[in-house]
Amino acid sequence: MTPAEGQTVAAAIRAATELLGARTDTARLDAELLMAHVLGVTRSDLFLRRMRDPAPAAFADLVARRAANEPVAHIVGHTDFWGLTFEVSDAVLVPRADSETLIEAAVQAFAGRAPQRILDLGTGSGCLLLAALSEWPAAEGIGVDRSAEALAVATRNARRLDLQAELIRADWTVPGWSAGLGRFDLVLANPPYVEDGAELDPDVRDHEPAGALFAGPEGLDAYRVLVPQLPDLLAPSGIALVEIGYRQAEAVGAIATAAGLAWTLHRDLGERPRALELKFSLGKPDASA
Ligand code: GLN
Repeated sequence: MTPAEGQTVAAAIRAATELLGARTDTARLDAELLMAHVLGVTRSDLFLRRMRDPAPAAFADLVARRAANEPVAHIVGHTDFWGLTFEVSDAVLVPRADSETLIEAAVQAFAGRAPQRILDLGTGSGCLLLAALSEWPAAEGIGVDRSAEALAVATRNARRLDLQAELIRADWTVPGWSAGLGRFDLVLANPPYVEDGAELDPDVRDHEPAGALFAGPEGLDAYRVLVPQLPDLLAPSGIALVEIGYRQAEAVGAIATAAGLAWTLHRDLGERPRALELKFSLGKPDASA
């Protein structure tokens, strides 16, 4: 798409919205974010000041990339989560609004008491850990990931957001990986949970890291490794919040029950099951166990 000679920003956004409409249900928003990026302004500045300006030629290239299914977050290099801006790359899962369900649930659970130690398993961009630390800046926050590239992104995000976090390269599927880490008041995780071979949007399938998405034939492999470790990672009154696929609540709940944990379900803004809150059934680990 080449902007017509003399096309305004407003007209170029309209044309791009039409073009992208065939592929995404966020066409208008996508077009606006790409235009704001090209112009180097915020979206509100775009609306307030720039709509009648001539459209920049570079806009067309970005729209073409989006039309070829590249996520907007990858094209512009960042996205917002919990009101904070996160750098992203193809080494990390793009933060999704659905995952804010975990932070909301944590804020509810810790009303009136702040978690002192927070652990994020598979931190990726760092969005869950850093969003939590933005709520409780005095907490000690540890994020682990097996991908060095992901940790580099998370480290830059922590620095840019001016939040103190310890980011560690570790693979939580390796037995003994957490020796010496201690216990945590809040454990967060958005593990891979997509069934192998599931059909995903090309945006996701072709651009996001498979290692952050796929987890065995039922998408449950990561929970089977992660959830049984929680009794060793949780403080006596600690809680874990794990993201789940919307059809996985019962299956992940059963894994939690078998690990001696009680669970409650949290839904996302679309009312779909999105997170389980896990804690010791009696509020305390069984000392004899
Ligand atoms: N919700 C993601 C998606 O399907 C999956 C995230 C995950 O596997 N942790 O787009």
